[in-house]
Amino acid sequence: MRPEILFPLFAEITTLPGIGGRTAAHLGRLGIRTIADLLWHLPVSVVDRSYSPAVMEAPDGVIATLLVTVGKHEPAPRRSKRPYRVKCYDDSGPLDLVFFHPNADYIQDMLPVGAERLVSGKVEHFQGQAQMSHPDYILPPSRRAELPKLEPVYALTAGLSGKMIRKAVLAALDKVPELPEWLDAGHLKAQGWPSWKTAVERAHSPKSPTDVAINSPARTRLAYDELLSNQLALVLVRDRMRKRKGRVIRGDGQMQDKVRAALPFALTGDQEAVLAEIAHDMAEPAAMLRLVQGDVGSGKTIVALMAMLNAVEAGAQAALLAPTEILARQHAATLAPLAEAAGVRLQLLTGRDKGKARQRLLDDLASGEIDILVGTHALIEKDVEFHDLALAVIDEQHRFGVHQRLKLTSKGRDVVDVLVMTATPIPRTLALTAYGDMDVSRIVEKPPGRKPIETRTISSDRLGEVVAGVGRAIKQGARVYWVCPLVEESEVSDLAAAEARHKVLTEALGDKVGLVHGRMKGAEKDAVMADFAAGRISVLVATTVIEVGVDVPEATVMIIEHAERFGLSQLHQLRGRVGRGGDKSSCLLVYSGPLGETAHARLAIMRETEDGFRIAEEDLRLRGAGELLGTRQSGMPEFRVADLAVHQDLLATARKDAVLVLTQDPRLEGERGRALRVLLYLFERDAAIRYLQSG
Ligand code: ADP
Ligand code: MG
Repeated sequence: MRPEILFPLFAEITTLPGIGGRTAAHLGRLGIRTIADLLWHLPVSVVDRSYSPAVMEAPDGVIATLLVTVGKHEPAPRRSKRPYRVKCYDDSGPLDLVFFHPNADYIQDMLPVGAERLVSGKVEHFQGQAQMSHPDYILPPSRRAELPKLEPVYALTAGLSGKMIRKAVLAALDKVPELPEWLDAGHLKAQGWPSWKTAVERAHSPKSPTDVAINSPARTRLAYDELLSNQLALVLVRDRMRKRKGRVIRGDGQMQDKVRAALPFALTGDQEAVLAEIAHDMAEPAAMLRLVQGDVGSGKTIVALMAMLNAVEAGAQAALLAPTEILARQHAATLAPLAEAAGVRLQLLTGRDKGKARQRLLDDLASGEIDILVGTHALIEKDVEFHDLALAVIDEQHRFGVHQRLKLTSKGRDVVDVLVMTATPIPRTLALTAYGDMDVSRIVEKPPGRKPIETRTISSDRLGEVVAGVGRAIKQGARVYWVCPLVEESEVSDLAAAEARHKVLTEALGDKVGLVHGRMKGAEKDAVMADFAAGRISVLVATTVIEVGVDVPEATVMIIEHAERFGLSQLHQLRGRVGRGGDKSSCLLVYSGPLGETAHARLAIMRETEDGFRIAEEDLRLRGAGELLGTRQSGMPEFRVADLAVHQDLLATARKDAVLVLTQDPRLEGERGRALRVLLYLFERDAAIRYLQSG
């Protein structure tokens, strides 16, 4: 249970004075529901309102507070789109205050002719004339004290003004309790960090502009707190897994040999090396917790099958958990013939299985007749019981949380070995936040015969040429992916764009064009994917549902529209859908300009390299870790305060700190231990606390 001292922080923002339903709804769009959420919404910069030059000296584009005398009002003529101007001046020269869609009464009230006024806002120069549109503040000089000297600036959303959010934050700061110190006193002092409460206050009510900088002592402390909670939770989970006695799994290699014989290719050196590492881990009495990182197309699926066969050879069962229905089906389809060759029963279970058929399947699973179960998160439902689950393989893990992983592994009689496969090349730093000290294997070598993918960028002005090119390619038998991006944060418009593109392409290219998107029913999706795999359609228009893991080796062309909207890792993943067979492949990144600096850099990197690890590092550099793996559904920890692009170095310290403190006080019962429990709750790592108690 959450400690009482944190109750005020987890109250809804609507309990704050002056925060009504509408403000709350706007804040909700920023993901802010509780007071704690609001406190984590840290300013992005700060405005120095004490900057008070003479009008003539105020530089263009800078926020300044000017003391002026009101000269005359020039209201907008009726029915004109021209703004309302108030001519003001100081000793150095004139300043126009400009109001669009003016409320004349209000303006006349605030700015009586002849009066002195302090106006604060952004100064601009228009045709040599200094002006300020919609000043942030208009005050008589006697009320100068009401001007905040340093005003924090927050990320906003439509309908939410800086003033509204400021008001909410100030009210929230009033509720901030003094919390017990969970950091080591020596460390705190050496770093020169403030207490948690002071850090929160300083981050929101800066005393100097450097206080809001992301590497200020206040911000650094808050980031460290968050990383420490993350690492504590991971160490707790890992310790719990270690505590459970392991089991020795050692297959005799017979089934694996049959699969090797049935495969049209030999495994690569890296695949074999990873398999050896896995076999070694499984033969150990301790539980395996291993991450296999292999770039897209490196051939992880077959490694998964071999590992699962190792478990089956030893008389146990194995499960393969995939993040999407399409992927689960694809895995089952590729693996079924190989399993058959090995004399092994492999079944698919997804959310679509219902009723009697599902029950029969569950019975077979519980009695041990099914050896390998492949599926979506339907696998972790309560009534799915195994006879003797020994190995859980989790594909594309970054879509799953640590929690789901544990749920699956709790289905074993004994400790379940865990193998996580990810195609997203995770930089070391990030791997540490998501997996703690998992053992890592890497498949670097690609299967032989792969040709480099030719990547080009092209402006959307030339879409006509792209369509014509696709027409020529499919005449020669090519298969083409055509990806439409998320238009907004709404599936509806997303879908509309894909449908519109499908229509245009069908008109231009005929009926060889198919469409797949997230809103389709499962069976419809399968049918389209199957048509594409079999070559009945040549062009597959898709929203990003195809992103993860789809394998159609015959596809050789990837077209990505609005490539500038995608992150690097996502582009790399998408591009990895081609170049899987022996044929030469190409990827066309269609962008709509003008490109920002970051988008430009991203596209350049894509042209330059196919090395997933390098791309991941660049991505981290360009975007910051929070966004690295894309969307919220990603299950990778999303940090609210910490930004790994800046705070990377804190992570290793946090990890050591977490390990050390749990060695000294494994149940977190000492004084610091109890404070750390508060920290875990503060960052909503409640699940980890449960492990502590059941310890
Ligand atoms: P990923 O690592 O992206 O999951 P897959 O397991 O889907 O990659 O494999 C990509 C393609 O490479 C598949 O068509 C698979 O059959 C093929 N493949 C895997 N291993 C080899 C190999 N050793 N030699 C040739 N082709 C291979
Ligand atoms: Mg895969």
